[in-house]
Amino acid sequence: MKIGFIGLGNMGGPMATNLAKAGHDVTGFDMADVAIDGVTLAATGIEAATGADVVITMLPNGAILRAVANDVIPAMSKGAALVDCSTVDVESARAVADQAGAAGLLFVDAPVSGGVGGAAGGTLTFMAGGSAEAFAKADPLFDIMGQKAVHCGEAGAGQAAKICNNMILGVTMIATCEAFSLADKLGLSREKMFDVVSTSSGYSWTMNAYCPAPGVGPQSPSDNDYKPGFAADLMLKDLRLSQQAAEAADADTPMGQMARDLYAQFVENEDGAGMDFSAMLPRFEKRSRN
Ligand code: NAD
Repeated sequence: MKIGFIGLGNMGGPMATNLAKAGHDVTGFDMADVAIDGVTLAATGIEAATGADVVITMLPNGAILRAVANDVIPAMSKGAALVDCSTVDVESARAVADQAGAAGLLFVDAPVSGGVGGAAGGTLTFMAGGSAEAFAKADPLFDIMGQKAVHCGEAGAGQAAKICNNMILGVTMIATCEAFSLADKLGLSREKMFDVVSTSSGYSWTMNAYCPAPGVGPQSPSDNDYKPGFAADLMLKDLRLSQQAAEAADADTPMGQMARDLYAQFVENEDGAGMDFSAMLPRFEKRSRN
C-alpha cells in the first residue's frame, strides 16, 4: 500500500517505520528536520499525500490537524482514507471527517494508547471512529502498528473513548498518589501498601502496572527519577480535552475537573513540566494539609 505519514515525532516516527518494515511504501512529512528509518521524506504534506491509498496523521493538536487537513484533503485521490491517530478534540475530529467525506474520502479518527514504547514495539491500542468501510481499510495498518483496534462507532467515537479513558487515568493516578502520601504519614511502608492495595479493591493500572512509588511494584518511570513515560503535560492536555468535551455535552465530571486543575497547577506553577505524570507523588510528599 502507498502510505503518506504526516507528523513524524516521538510517536509518528516509529509508527511509520513499522509500516515500512512490513513492506508498505511510506512517504512522510514533518515540519521539523527528521530522518526516519525506512521512510522517504517529502518536502510538503501535500507531496506526501498525493497518490497515497492511506494518509496517516500524528500531530500535536486539533488546530494543527485542521490546518494539515485543509492542505492535504484536496490533494488526496477519491476513495483514499485519511486516518488521524493524534489525540484531538472530538469537534475537530468530526469537522475533518465531514470535510473528508465531502471530498469523497474515507476518514477514521484513531487515537492510541500505549505511548512511545507501544509505538516502537508495534503494540499500540487503537480506538477508532468512522464508517465500517473506513475502519476496514485502516484495520490492516492498525494490525501492524498495534496489538488491538476497537471500532468504537462513527467519526469522533475514537476520540471520545480516548479522553474518557484518560480522564479515568488522570483521576486514578492522583488518587493513588494521595493514598501513598497518606500512608507515609500514617507510618505504613510503601511495600506493604502496594502488597495490600494491588490485591485489594483499591487496585488499578496506576497502582499495579505503573506504580508512582519508586522501588515498589514493576519497573516504572518513578524508578527513573520520574522521566516520562507519559508526561504530565500530555496528561494535562488530555484532561483539558475531556473537560472541553464535558462542557460541550453538558456532562457533570467533577473529578475530571479537579484532576485537570491539579495537573494545570503542577505543570504550570510547580515543577511538573517535563516530568512523568506519576510525579504527583513527590508533589504530595512536599506538601501538608495546610
Ligand atoms: P511530538 O511532538 O513528538 O510529534 C508531533 C510532530 O508533529 C512533531 O515532530 C512536529 O514537528 C510535527 N508537526 C507539527 N505541526 C506539523 C505540521 N503542520 N505538519 C507536519 N508536521 C507537523 O508528539 P508525539 O508524542 O508524537 O504525539 C503525537 C500525538 O500523539 C499527540 O496528539 C499526542 O497527544 C498523542 N499521543 C502521544 C503519546 C505519547 O506518549 N507521546 C501517547 C498517546 C497519544
